[in-house]
Amino acid sequence: MRIVFSKLVGNTSNFPLQYRFFHVIALIGFFMSFSASIINYLLDLGIFTVIIPFVCGIISIYLYYLSMYKKKYTLSVYLALIMLTFIFFPTMWLINGGSFGSIPYYLIVYSAFIAVLLKGFKRVLAIILFLGTIMALFIFEYKFPWFVHGYDSILSRYLDVFFGFIIAVIFNAVTMAAVINGYNMEHERVILYLSEVEKQRKEIEQKNYLLEKNNEELKEAKQKTEQLNLKLREISVIDSLTGTYNRRYLLKCLNSLRKTAEKYGQTFSVILLDIDHFKAINDTFGHVAGDKVLKKVCRTIKNNIRETDIFGRLGGEEFMVILPETHKEQAFVVAERIRQDISNITWAGQDMKITVSGGVYQYNNEKLIELLKKVDNFLYQAKNSGRNRIESDIS
Ligand code: GH3
Ligand code: MG
Ligand code: MG
Repeated sequence: MRIVFSKLVGNTSNFPLQYRFFHVIALIGFFMSFSASIINYLLDLGIFTVIIPFVCGIISIYLYYLSMYKKKYTLSVYLALIMLTFIFFPTMWLINGGSFGSIPYYLIVYSAFIAVLLKGFKRVLAIILFLGTIMALFIFEYKFPWFVHGYDSILSRYLDVFFGFIIAVIFNAVTMAAVINGYNMEHERVILYLSEVEKQRKEIEQKNYLLEKNNEELKEAKQKTEQLNLKLREISVIDSLTGTYNRRYLLKCLNSLRKTAEKYGQTFSVILLDIDHFKAINDTFGHVAGDKVLKKVCRTIKNNIRETDIFGRLGGEEFMVILPETHKEQAFVVAERIRQDISNITWAGQDMKITVSGGVYQYNNEKLIELLKKVDNFLYQAKNSGRNRIESDIS
């Protein structure tokens, strides 16, 4: 039923409510006109009372077609209202019994059509014009009663008024039903739409919540990755036993320092230190004690150098200090101080003496391998010259 109805008057998505009313009204007008035409013919009320409603029915169906299929709603409504208000109803009034006939009933139905089809000022204006027309007809009929074409018999008047009344009642009810149905349909649509909007809003909220959660998780993961990276970087440059820089970092620093020194004519010195007879220490006091010695030696070296000096364990019991912007004489002093400090360490409860030998060398535009070889040679010299001493090429 609903499908047939929406096919006939247009569906809710293509036609606004008012348009669909107009289509209903045009169809009602069509049926009213034809039924009036047939009734008038059967009642033998005169040729004009048959032809005029018939023509009106044709016009009704044409206007319906114009709005429904040609999308000329406004034009159709105006044409319908003008035709009905000023031509159809006045003519029918005059030829079909005036205020004694059936036309007044149709006029009441028609007033509902105007109210439904127009809005605001246009609606008020149309009602006023319509009322003006009715008043004019009443006055005209009162003044010139002979001009109004009455009924041939009392029976034909009663029958016409009876059918007119019945048709008016039916179409009044149909119009009201169409209005309220249309309203209900729109209302249902709005409710459906609102619930859909609410559903989507909830979905969006849910998605937002998930996104925020994911974001938090991502942030956490990022933080963890950063921490891990930091740790990894630390691990890759730090010697795990002593907490000082490892061989890889020391050599990298040495090489980059060498390059900048070469480029900007700067200088630096390197101290290479090796614990004497460390194997014997390990053998005598154990590996754990040996580790403690390594840590203590590191602390002692650190206490003797500047913040800007780079210090670490090259491997085993061998250490390196890189001293930027330092000449070999100054570096030698530092190395000597370290040597003395280490030899002066007293090892609580242990009859142990730790000494270091060292080599000092100042960079002289050589490649890294050569540089390492040179400082190693001085260390070798120190070892060969009896240990617990520092060797360099200072005069
Ligand atoms: P030299 O005076 O000629 O340097 O003699 P040395 O015994 O110190 O030299 P050598 O190279 O013969 O022995 C080094 C020893 O250092 C051997 C090894 O057991 C020990 N060593 C190397 N790394 C570690 C470490 O991390 N912990 C401990 N406890 N000992 C280590
Ligand atoms: Mg050694
Ligand atoms: Mg060694």
